[in-house]
Order: sequence, then C-alpha cells, then structure tokens
Amino acid sequence: MKLDFDKKFYEEIIENLNDGLYIVDTNRVIRFWNKAAERLTGFTAEEVIGYSCSDNILMHVDEEGNSLCKERCPIVYAFETGKGQEAEVYLHHKDGHRVPVWIRVGLIRDKDGNIIGASELFSDLSSRDAYRLKVAELESIAMLDALTGLPNRYYMEHEINSRIEERKRLGVPFGILFMDIDHFKHFNDTYGHDVGDKVLKMVAQTFVSNSRPFDVYARWGGEEFLAVIRNVDVVELEKIGNRMRMLVGESFVMHEGKKLKVTISVGATLFRDGDTLESVVKRADTLLYESKNAGRNRITVG
Ligand code: GH3
Ligand code: MG
Ligand code: MG
Repeated sequence: MKLDFDKKFYEEIIENLNDGLYIVDTNRVIRFWNKAAERLTGFTAEEVIGYSCSDNILMHVDEEGNSLCKERCPIVYAFETGKGQEAEVYLHHKDGHRVPVWIRVGLIRDKDGNIIGASELFSDLSSRDAYRLKVAELESIAMLDALTGLPNRYYMEHEINSRIEERKRLGVPFGILFMDIDHFKHFNDTYGHDVGDKVLKMVAQTFVSNSRPFDVYARWGGEEFLAVIRNVDVVELEKIGNRMRMLVGESFVMHEGKKLKVTISVGATLFRDGDTLESVVKRADTLLYESKNAGRNRITVG
C-alpha cells in the first residue's frame, strides 16, 4: 500500500506524537494543542486554545525558578532573533506541580518567508530525571555495583532491614531469592573473564527487565544475586523465581558467532517470625545448595 501524505496523514502523526506540541501565532495566542500536550500539562485543548501562552497557563520557569514568560520567553526570543530555541524548563501542570521538560521552539513561516507563528515541542524529562537522580544517589553513597549497575550487597542489606520493619509494622510478607550462576568458573576458563563479565551484565539485565517494580534485585557477590520479592506467598515466590531461572536460561551473549548461555540455581524462602537478616539469607543460601546438589538449573523452596 502506498503511503498517502495528505493533510489528515500529518494531523494523525502530530496528534499521536509522544511529545507535547503547541502552535502559537505572532501574538503568542495558542492555536493548536496536541494530545501529548494535554497529557503532560493536564490542560485540554479547549482550555487553552485562544488564550495567550503568557496567560498563566504553562508559566515556564528555569532551574532557579525565574519566570520565563515575561522577559525571557523562548518563543519571543525566537521571534526576535529569527532562530529556533532549545531549553530545559519546568512547566506548570494544571494540578499545580512542576514538570521538567525539554522544549524546542521552531518558527513557522509563510511562502514568502515571513514569520507567522511558532511551534513548541516539549518532551517529558521527569522519569529520566528520577532515574538519573537515583543512579547518581546510589553511586555517590557507594551502593551501586559498577559492572552490572544493580544495587550492591550493602544496599540490599538495608533493603532487607526495611522489609523486616515493614512486615513487623504492617504485616506485609516478603521472600528472598538467592541465585547463583552454574559452573561459572568453567565458563570463565573456557571463554575468558571478559565474556564472563558480559554474561553477568546480561543476567542482571534479565532481572531488571522482568522484575515487578517494587521488587529489588542486587548483586550479592561475584556471580551471586539476591532478590527481595514483596507481598507474596510461597507459591507466588516459587513462580517468580522459576520464571527468572527460565528467562536467564533463554538468554544468551554472542561470542565469535556463537550463542553462549548460562543457567542459574535458586534458593527461595519466605521471611518467618523469629528470622533475622542473617537467618533468612542463610536459609536461602542452604536451599540454593540443595538446587546445586540436585543437578543445578532448578529452584528449591523451603
Ligand atoms: P557452581 O555451579 O557450583 O556455582 O560452580 P561455579 O563455578 O559457578 O562456582 P564457584 O564459586 O567455584 O566459581 C565462581 C566463579 O565466578 C569464580 C569466578 O571466576 C567467577 N566470578 C566471580 N566474580 C566474577 C566477575 O566479576 N567476573 C567474572 N567474569 N567472573 C567472576
Ligand atoms: Mg558462587
Ligand atoms: Mg556459581
């Protein structure tokens, strides 16, 4: 089928952009407002079309909280200089909070080259910022494992202590998965330490990509990983551990044209009354060794 680049085609694309887009005329009156702009700001098209963008709608501020609307509006600046503008600003959401966005202002000209308006495209930076802050924070207090990017053992000990507190106060159950790569020494001896490192990263990425948002996976040591699985019974804990085991086994790294795979063994247990951080981890470790003794690439729950 041939692509049909008619007006409707462009309208569809603009309406469905992931980024917010609005268009103003030379008086800065808003003439167009797409769906993503509604989503990012909370203002519907009906609420803003026909109003000037300086009418206390988005009220962009910069890092220091300076208002950009009056003197330093990027759109006014674009009109004055005849050049597009880019900036990182914080826009006002209808609910009151600030949303960090990256804006790009482009000029709209008629056939003769006269400026007749401007477009402002804005991308949400909030999740990127949250992630950047989290990583920076963990790095700065030495809680991140440099190779895999997972939280390290030190972080995990704090995490388990928090979950113990939560269970005590609110009765929220949690379990531990102790996971260890099978025959990894042999793997390193065969393919080299660098390929081994690639495998460690691949295994970590499998955990990150497939975990529930409130569970935490950490690198406990060498080729050992520990996960804290929240709000589960023993059946659900086994299901999650077994799914991760299967997913690791189904992943691979490419090396000299070959797909290299590893498996993991798992020990799984729920935190019980009378347990401590040490006792629950110890029990998970013992269960892991049962999986190893029984032939590896399996989970033992206890
Ligand atoms: P098992 O199935 O019983 O767990 O056997 P294994 O060979 O995995 O167990 P062992 O504890 O004897 O060996 C662990 C190996 O993990 C030894 C070490 O070379 C490797 N290892 C630990 N840390 C790293 C790392 O950061 N990078 C790489 N490439 N290898 C690592
Ligand atoms: Mg080990
Ligand atoms: Mg091992």
